[in-house]
Amino acid sequence: TPYFSDTLIIGAGAAGLFCAGQLGKQGKQVTVLDSGKKAGRKILMAGGGFCNFTNLEITPQHYLSHNPHFVKSALARFTQWDFIALVAEYGIAYHEKELGQLFCDESAQQIVDLLLAECAKYQVNIQLRQHIEQVSALENGGFAVQANGQTWHCHQLVVATGGLSMPALGASSLGYQIAEQFGLGMIPPRASLVPFRWRETEQFYTALAGVSLPVRVSAENGQSFFNQLLFTHRGISGPAILQISNYWQPNEWVEVDLLPNQSIGDYLQELRQTSPKLQLKTALSRILPTKLVELWQEREMIPAETLANLSKVRLENLENFIHHWQIFPNGTEGYRTAEVTMGGVDTHEISSKTMESSKVKGLYFIGEVLDVTGWLGGYNFQWAWSSAYACANHIASL
Ligand code: FAD
Repeated sequence: TPYFSDTLIIGAGAAGLFCAGQLGKQGKQVTVLDSGKKAGRKILMAGGGFCNFTNLEITPQHYLSHNPHFVKSALARFTQWDFIALVAEYGIAYHEKELGQLFCDESAQQIVDLLLAECAKYQVNIQLRQHIEQVSALENGGFAVQANGQTWHCHQLVVATGGLSMPALGASSLGYQIAEQFGLGMIPPRASLVPFRWRETEQFYTALAGVSLPVRVSAENGQSFFNQLLFTHRGISGPAILQISNYWQPNEWVEVDLLPNQSIGDYLQELRQTSPKLQLKTALSRILPTKLVELWQEREMIPAETLANLSKVRLENLENFIHHWQIFPNGTEGYRTAEVTMGGVDTHEISSKTMESSKVKGLYFIGEVLDVTGWLGGYNFQWAWSSAYACANHIASL
């Protein structure tokens, strides 16, 4: 005989655990199945181990989806303030790092503990190390899930398997396979919030690995971010680059302003008045990382001249180069280091109020498995909380 649970959730990550706790709280019987030996593995890794669990400023504009209105309802019904109140209720100390991003003072483990405590309080059944072999619809409604050779039946099936990023943390395409099996649309997934790699011709910049500086970076579609850029052993990273990767498509450029708060032209013109004999290299090293300027000089990308000898044309070239550096990335580092997956289950066929598939009654998708991608900065976890809440509230009302 099969096991039975009113609601079965696949995935004990951020969305699955929160949904389970919310359902339990409203008196619903719920079981969570996960392939991992621990729940919430991505949460533990998040925010450098301190988990950036939400952001003080959450708006639909912080999310990308082929259906931009989709996030509105869920975000409005379970807000960042609701999650912050829960964090406070558990006595978890937190701080704002920058740009509204909230992190735990102590450890991401506290967020996992909070979610597990909520589940334990309401008798949620969490089954780990579950290998899901098959999912099917039952003739009279409901679903059958086969895991570790055992069959489960349920009335509602919630898919909370997340995206493809970081396979080392248990990411799999099971959620996408379930969507396809039931005839739901998919937006092709790709790695996002991810570093770029250099093309062959720019490999020499790997010598700068570890150097970082504040920049403004823009995508071809006009979106731009002001934040740090970090040179790596393979390409460029840092929050500015991760953010713009959400807006970048293969074969497009990104434009970097290396001196976003100042005009290089004005700076050099003024300095030329007071210090005409100053080497250009020295002048640039005062406002840009020395290693970067030295590399340019070595490769004769900037003239070895004094400020007095700098021609108008060369000055213009320099302005163009420093404020409008066009970079053609040779792709991204892919799912291995990506923080999220762009694309996923097409939200046009999912109810924005309940997360239920409009085609298949009783089948729900929450969290990152959906075609919803947030900016860097706590937005992806907030989506997990908000979508999980919308789903749980609906199932509890049935
Ligand atoms: P997940 O949390 O990924 O959970 C999915 C669960 O499904 C996992 O437990 C997995 O084991 C399980 N699963 C998958 N496949 C199967 C299968 N076949 N069978 C059974 N179970 C399966 N976002 C932020 O907002 N702030 C941050 O600070 C932040 N930092 C991050 C750092 C890293 C290194 C990474 C990779 C991501 C980070 N993110 C951050 C993104 C955030 O972690 C995700 O958007 C969020 O976890 C998505 O929640 P989810 O529940 O949809 O998926």
